Amino acid sequence: MANNPIPADQSAWDFWAVRADRNRAVLRAILDKASVEDPKRSAVDQKIGDFYASCMDEPAIDKLGTRPLDPELKRIDAIQSKDDILDVVIRFHRIGVGALFNFSSEPDAKNSAQMIAGIDQGGLGLPDRDYYLKDDPKSVKLREEYLAHVRRMLGLAGVAPARADADARSVLRIETELAKGSLDRVSRRDPSQTYHKMSIQELAALSRSVDWPKYFSGMGTPSFTDLDVSVPSFFKALDAVLADSSVADLKTYLRWHLLHAQAPLLAKAFVDENFRYFGQTLTGSKELQPRWKRCVQITDGDLGFALGQKYVEQVFPPDAKARVLGMVQEIEKMLGQDIQSLDWMTPATKQQAMIKLRAVANKIGYPDKWRDYSSVSIVRGQALGNDERASEFEVHRTLNQIGHPVDRGEWGMTPPTVNAYYSPLHNDINFPAGILQPPFFDNRMDAAVNYGAIGSIMGHELTHGFDDQGRQYDAEGNLRNWWTPEDAAEFQKRAECLIKEYSTFSPVDGVHLNGKLTLGENTADNGGVHLAFMALMKSLDGKPQPKIDGFTPQQRFFLAWGQAWCENIRPERSRMLAQIDPHSPGRDRVNGVLGNMPEFGEAFACHQGQPMVHAPACRVW
Ligand SMILES: [Zn+2]
Repeated sequence: MANNPIPADQSAWDFWAVRADRNRAVLRAILDKASVEDPKRSAVDQKIGDFYASCMDEPAIDKLGTRPLDPELKRIDAIQSKDDILDVVIRFHRIGVGALFNFSSEPDAKNSAQMIAGIDQGGLGLPDRDYYLKDDPKSVKLREEYLAHVRRMLGLAGVAPARADADARSVLRIETELAKGSLDRVSRRDPSQTYHKMSIQELAALSRSVDWPKYFSGMGTPSFTDLDVSVPSFFKALDAVLADSSVADLKTYLRWHLLHAQAPLLAKAFVDENFRYFGQTLTGSKELQPRWKRCVQITDGDLGFALGQKYVEQVFPPDAKARVLGMVQEIEKMLGQDIQSLDWMTPATKQQAMIKLRAVANKIGYPDKWRDYSSVSIVRGQALGNDERASEFEVHRTLNQIGHPVDRGEWGMTPPTVNAYYSPLHNDINFPAGILQPPFFDNRMDAAVNYGAIGSIMGHELTHGFDDQGRQYDAEGNLRNWWTPEDAAEFQKRAECLIKEYSTFSPVDGVHLNGKLTLGENTADNGGVHLAFMALMKSLDGKPQPKIDGFTPQQRFFLAWGQAWCENIRPERSRMLAQIDPHSPGRDRVNGVLGNMPEFGEAFACHQGQPMVHAPACRVW
């Protein structure tokens, strides 16, 4: 840790950040090449190259000032009545600017083969509802600084200082009302609390102030009658906000959200001010990232399955895919053995668990079918316009799925992403090519190191299908209880152990982890390392193993897990993550899991009573 200080443009530094940096360098080379204007460029190169070049042209963007926002600002200025508000919200949502609430498509949690419309809480500028509601001195101070930030952003867009102050307070008041109606993160982890299928008429009864048929037709969706209103109480709160706020205040709120969403592609003053609050104040970064890094990220966000196609060609050969798949299948076998050997689960539930395990789909590296962006017009010199059109394409593509069968081939992360996920509604595990790279997966390393790093992460994603959240879905991805009450109670007992254990960890002064918020991830970490260790033991087959660099395979396995999460992190970021991140911080992901594993104690000759031998040792899977 001492040898790896946090770079000034980062808020944390670990292998994930190092890998992301290396991936970004590959992407930058691809984009630099693609942005050379050449009539022989492929259609994909034209899109990603011109998108990136437009983003990189800072002098041109600075010269334009707020002009790229003029069409949207004019729409806001022209609002006369509350009815007009909805027209601007529709426009915002179509170009990916958040305001008031979120609307998208999703698999129906009770009929997971079918896509339905889903509407959810939203409309906040701060990272979580709690930022508006907590009264400790830190939270109060962060809100004051937020007010100052909103005021300065409005000022940059030409609002006079005296008015900007009152305007910022209006924004905070509206967002606070929306926050009060929002469900907290722990409650949102319970799928039954965020699934409420109802008719458009029933939604209208919650929020009379919104002309819902007008909104849905404005969004250009296929027609539908029922939708999932994730948090009904939020839509009551939204109704009150719309009824109680003046037209002028709502216009201010929309103006702020436009500036907030588009700041990264506006002139330098906006970029700097946005960084000052969201980078420095909230996460403790010292310096803005170089422009190329930000532009690579924005290109990945907007055209990620075009850029990702080129990335995969360079870094992820077909034989790597085959090797990774082999490891995943080994770990799946281990979970099967683990389930069969549990002394607390009845045969009936075991059988259901095995059906679910066998149905898990393994998605490795990149999608089978690449997304077709040919209808997105990317024009050199229109940085913000390109972003808006790409968002419009994505919103349209997503909403168009309403009423259609679920496309199980879809990916929720782009190929260069250094991350992985399990989707309960699809019952699949997804490993983008971006994480299937050293040091997580390294072909030159022995099995112990690969199992300790990427193997444990594979086990982690797989275990998500059986954590407190994932276990509520069946093999097809339907929200359906397949547990006997006795088995569910036994599971809960083991989960309580983890809740208690992780609630004792404190990442930063005066802050403790929320054991309920992090339960799913902690369950996945503990299960994942356990499964990967089983797979390693099986591959060693009881044969004597030589030490490498002075360590046994068992030790190398645990060291690899430790290195995967070894991190330096700024206290500001720690504080923010403890509030919003369902994952525990690196140190606790390592020590929490290993202290629960007798195999770790054995490998390093730890004794009862020492800090790395937890009593009780928690174990779910
Ligand atoms: Zn996870």
